[in-house]
Amino acid sequence: MSDSNGASSSRDQVLAELAGGTRFVLATHEHPDGDALGSLSAMQQVLLALGKDAVSYMSPDEFPLSYEYRWLTLPNLVREPPADLADRTIVFLDCGNIDRNPADAFKREGAHIVNIDHHHDNTRFGTVNHVVSDASCTAEIVWDLAKGLGVPLTREMAEALYVGLVTDTGKFMYENTGPRAHLMAAELIDAGVDVHTVYRRLFEGLPQGKLDLLARGLSNIRRFDDGLVTVTALHRHDYERAGADESFSEGVVDHLRAMEGTAVAGLVRERMTDHDKGRFKVSLRAADDRVDVSRIARALGGGGHRRAAGATTDLELDELVDFIRRAVADQL
Ligand code: 5GP
Ligand code: MN
Repeated sequence: MSDSNGASSSRDQVLAELAGGTRFVLATHEHPDGDALGSLSAMQQVLLALGKDAVSYMSPDEFPLSYEYRWLTLPNLVREPPADLADRTIVFLDCGNIDRNPADAFKREGAHIVNIDHHHDNTRFGTVNHVVSDASCTAEIVWDLAKGLGVPLTREMAEALYVGLVTDTGKFMYENTGPRAHLMAAELIDAGVDVHTVYRRLFEGLPQGKLDLLARGLSNIRRFDDGLVTVTALHRHDYERAGADESFSEGVVDHLRAMEGTAVAGLVRERMTDHDKGRFKVSLRAADDRVDVSRIARALGGGGHRRAAGATTDLELDELVDFIRRAVADQL
């Protein structure tokens, strides 16, 4: 299919790259979530099914992976960019900004990058950019590409795609959930996904440290501007006392967004990895249509979606809260 001006669409370009290439390295953003890992897993399996040489790169800092995702099929993982990188097509998945991946090797002049993503503020850092901002998740784009490549879905591929779908749509409850998300779910279930088993793996079997960390987050809630801005903070000592991994704070902010009267919810947490020690990561969620939290996150050097965005900053906690309050007031 061609656009009316004769140029091929980004979908066609990506399909040609994937079908025509022989060696690939796949990459995603740091601290990969369900959509990042599900998309990586599925894309790698699709490329392997086509007989390609495909490896997935993740920095040693990402291991062990967050417990919910350890069961995903991720063959050919590498913790260093491969030595023959110059001969490989680099496929970025679910990564809005190349600086969200720690490997400098990918940022070299002349790197051949296929950028597949659904963040509207993707910086289009690829040689080919396939940014589908109305896709509910990157996994939805991978699902579409697998069809375009004529690769039938195995159960393991379908499970990986389902993980991306169910996590990025908030179990089909966020506003990005449209008919396509449900059509995709139906196809994935047909391909062998056992919905309840995946649900249990992702959302149950919680380590007690996760609940203890949540309890700390909930006991620290602060509300500003008549409750429009609802914030909590988790510090290094909270993680230590709860016996929690850095990833255990995932989901805490959703409780704040759900509070009566909240327009914007924020979780501010101290970063635990060595290279980010002392810095704060903020996760923002909007409960009010008028607010675009990705604008606030971008102003802090991050990004994301209108309703869910994040950034890592050098600001002190109080400065950060003031910044968020002002930015929200500007948009309301
Ligand atoms: P979370 O707050 O759960 O980490 O992320 C919410 C959304 O914001 C995700 O779509 C994620 O990709 C995006 N996001 C989070 N942190 C950053 C960041 O530091 N930079 C950018 N560009 N996006 C981020
Ligand atoms: Mn995503």
